[in-house]
Amino acid sequence: MQLDAAIALLADWGEPSYRSEQVRQGVTRDLARSWDEVTTLSKALRERLARELPFAELTLEEEQRSADGTVKARFRTAGGFPLETVLMRHGDRRAVCVSSQSGCALACTFCATGAMGLGRNLAAGEIFEQLLWAARIAREDEARIGNVVLMGMGEPFHNYDEVLRFCRLANDPAGFGLGARSIAISTAGWVPGIDRLADEPLQVKLAISLHGPNDAVRGSLMPVNRRYPVAAVMEACQRYRETTHRRVFIEYLLLQGVNDAPAHADELAALLQATAPGGFHVNLIVYNPTAAEYAASDPDRVAAFRAALVKRRVDHSLRRSRGRDIDAACGQLAVQGVRELRAARRDATRRPAPPRG
Ligand code: SAH
Repeated sequence: MQLDAAIALLADWGEPSYRSEQVRQGVTRDLARSWDEVTTLSKALRERLARELPFAELTLEEEQRSADGTVKARFRTAGGFPLETVLMRHGDRRAVCVSSQSGCALACTFCATGAMGLGRNLAAGEIFEQLLWAARIAREDEARIGNVVLMGMGEPFHNYDEVLRFCRLANDPAGFGLGARSIAISTAGWVPGIDRLADEPLQVKLAISLHGPNDAVRGSLMPVNRRYPVAAVMEACQRYRETTHRRVFIEYLLLQGVNDAPAHADELAALLQATAPGGFHVNLIVYNPTAAEYAASDPDRVAAFRAALVKRRVDHSLRRSRGRDIDAACGQLAVQGVRELRAARRDATRRPAPPRG
């Protein structure tokens, strides 16, 4: 979304400052889909904006609706990089899962996006457009977006500045107005990002994908563990807790026979208690099939794992992904995007200076 650019243009043209506010309102509150829909501006001004500045940077390629009410969008950037966004419905509540990158460099073995490799970072405006898309769909049934999670494609902390800029845009009380606590950033454990987030005034939630209680297990799943092993991630959590006093959410994907034994639960509990007693909430995640050769843990193994956590008084919940039938669930994004991403990457090397976040 070219909101800042539009506001700068209006100022250049000598328009009074309330025009900027009309644009901001039109885009973030009234959810206009084009400059022409910002009807508080004069027709002449709308036409001038439309001539000078594209309204959107992303092109919507496809919208799929799941039986459970989940809606997935496939977008492309101007340079052809694919990305996906998922709108989730939980009763009256709506949450949106946005992508921070096209593809991802971290290559976690269980994740479809990881298999794509990295396309490029998304700019704050490109992340914000995903939120606006979701808000427009929610509005169709008079609902509003209650939560945003940065859990789509990409490692948010590989694109730190644009991700934080996006969070501030979403939070702006004069604009979209979403509470900072309703925004969650999920990282594969990129320690420098955790440290930087601790010092931000914006109180967004932090979630860390751990998936294993020790280096042997985690390292077999997440190559990033070589760079930032479990102990380094836990030390970062400790520093984050000392600075912010906020809880950290730990994501733990249950993979049959890999990390789902009661002994793993005991080890996880001990690890978290040694780091910061009561400082964590564990989100257990049911594995969604990708091309990788893992299986979701059987219900009785999930129950045994949870029982071990209960015994050790570890606060936790089980996340059931939505939208599996349209490949919109955690880890399934971009099942089809690989070819597009490679083509866009080739194009980008031919083109002068691709847009960068
Ligand atoms: N890169 C960030 C955010 C994107 S992934 C991160 O790693 O946290 C959001 C969550 O979905 C992560 O916890 C990720 O590990 C999980 N996930 C990845 N593949 C999955 C799969 N196949 N099934 C279920 N969850 C998966």
